[in-house]
Amino acid sequence: MNLAAELKQRWGYDQFRPLQREAIEAVTSGQDSLVVLPTGGGKSLCYQLPAVLGKGVVLVVSPLIALMDDQVAAAREAGLEADALHSNLLSAQKSEAYRRLASGKTQILYVSPERLLVGDLCEDLAPRLLLAAVDEAHCVSHWGHEFRPEYRRLAEVLERVPKAVRMALTATATEAVRDDIAAQIPLRDPVRLVGHPDRPNLVYRAHPRRDQAAQVLEVVRRHPEEGGIVYAQTRKDVERLAEGLRKAGVSAAPYHAGLDAETRQRAQEGFVKERIDVVVATIAFGMGIDRSNVRYVVHANTPRSVEHYQQESGRAGRDGLPADCVLLFSAADLATHRWLAQKDGSLPPERQKALERQLREIGRFAVAPVCRHRLLTEHFGAPYQGTDCGACDVCLGETKSLSDADALVTAQKVLSAAWRTNGRFGAGYVVNVLMGKSDERMTRNGHDALQVFGLLKEAGEPAIRSWIDQLIVQGHLEVFDDGVYPLLRVTEAGKALCRGEGGVRLGVPMPPKKPGRRPKALKGRAAGAGDADEALFERLRRLRKMIADQLGAPPYLVFHDSALVEMAALKPKSLDAMRGVKGVGEKKLERFGAAFLAVINGAEPSGLLT
Ligand code: ADP
Ligand code: ZN
Repeated sequence: MNLAAELKQRWGYDQFRPLQREAIEAVTSGQDSLVVLPTGGGKSLCYQLPAVLGKGVVLVVSPLIALMDDQVAAAREAGLEADALHSNLLSAQKSEAYRRLASGKTQILYVSPERLLVGDLCEDLAPRLLLAAVDEAHCVSHWGHEFRPEYRRLAEVLERVPKAVRMALTATATEAVRDDIAAQIPLRDPVRLVGHPDRPNLVYRAHPRRDQAAQVLEVVRRHPEEGGIVYAQTRKDVERLAEGLRKAGVSAAPYHAGLDAETRQRAQEGFVKERIDVVVATIAFGMGIDRSNVRYVVHANTPRSVEHYQQESGRAGRDGLPADCVLLFSAADLATHRWLAQKDGSLPPERQKALERQLREIGRFAVAPVCRHRLLTEHFGAPYQGTDCGACDVCLGETKSLSDADALVTAQKVLSAAWRTNGRFGAGYVVNVLMGKSDERMTRNGHDALQVFGLLKEAGEPAIRSWIDQLIVQGHLEVFDDGVYPLLRVTEAGKALCRGEGGVRLGVPMPPKKPGRRPKALKGRAAGAGDADEALFERLRRLRKMIADQLGAPPYLVFHDSALVEMAALKPKSLDAMRGVKGVGEKKLERFGAAFLAVINGAEPSGLLT
């Protein structure tokens, strides 16, 4: 059996991504496995490919019903006999799926955990079941960030099919979650295939938040007509930001749990089918979103943890092409997260400690003047090689570190301003003191007569704001909530620093450079082929959209952006030459090849050729 030949013929890929082959070989040698690969790492292939080997049926448990139909469609595009069973199917679809299953045609069956728990689907399948794959396996763990009770009951179902190999797959998992997954599913003496968590094609930037709407718009404007997601903390923020983008002429839709199911469905579908460019959403959005050419993810608020950040920002650039991830940080968001977590009563001490740790870590990620790829990678327990990632604001030279001596003096000035106004004012007020911006309240308090008044005026407001955040994250300042307003106060460590004890690191944010408008994704990506022809790429994209609309399918099911970029660079002149483009398998070549070839040869896009 030649795995590489199947990969080329059905999926059009020349090589396995890291650990894919190992995962597939675990199945063929009858061993359970735990597969941890970052988003976009190619997890689906690990269970799809075994389905074509003729050794039995592959069962895929997935929590995302909304996504299942797309997964089935994608598997069928690769020529697999795929079906799904879940509660949202029409009865005709359901009986068709059962009929195909009974006839022995089905190679891969997607089911929701709910569906698997009722009836005797498993018993029926038992004699022919090669593999039971559990996708999004972190849902089984309390330690993960998306616990689902039904996942806990998978063990009792799997017990009934002891001969089937088991594979658990997840994108983010710390050691504790990994152990938990192996114990809960349970996996029997599994190989652990843990990929490197870094996503080198994502460019991370974190900016201090000054003007949320304007900063969001700035990122969106850098990506005209490209797909992006904006995450905000509350429904109100979502509505406000979406409205602002629309007024600025951007095709944007809001998405949050307060909208009715139909509106949400429309936003989701519009986005996947590329009728809408931007979705502004609370974190409720995204689990079910499979659009591989999301070119940017903006966090208008600070996410709750590094795990959340990894997961949410990870929805960008699944096609492997460059994508931007921008985080607008404010320490006030951390206080909001704390408040939200505690609003229904105080947390048990253990949860409280975990929460504080998570908030500290995401804060550190956002403000520490350290390579952000390195911080993320190390957070997930992997070593990071190299010193310059070339893909974060720190390494790109968009931030600057102060020397140790300057950092100490600057920190002392900020702390002293907070100390003088101790405990009674928020960050904004302290910034005004240091900027020397007086108003009626400040005069009344006599704070415009303080020695620190106007002391950091030269540095400018964004820098001072960021320093306050950096000092919070490093534990020299803390934000506490008096029930009305988040107030700033100096901690014991902060007081010690004022006496010259201990050290501190500070960076200065630099004003963002104005990058060009040309989509970066096009540059130099096609292996050795030079830059893609941008005009041709746009025409191929138009053709893809036409075909997708004709088929009522999302465009990425026709071809991924990466395949179009490569066509626009290589300009294949025959169907045979088209086989050389990554992502062009035999089935797609047969269905779409001629239409794309015609456009490459100069024809105007007009949909599928008949
Ligand atoms: P995950 O589920 O891990 O987020 P997917 O299975 O959705 O990732 O795969 C992400 C993208 O990578 C898809 O567009 C897929 O077609 C592509 N891909 C998967 N395996 C390979 C490979 N061996 N070579 C090139 N592209 C691949
Ligand atoms: Zn870096």
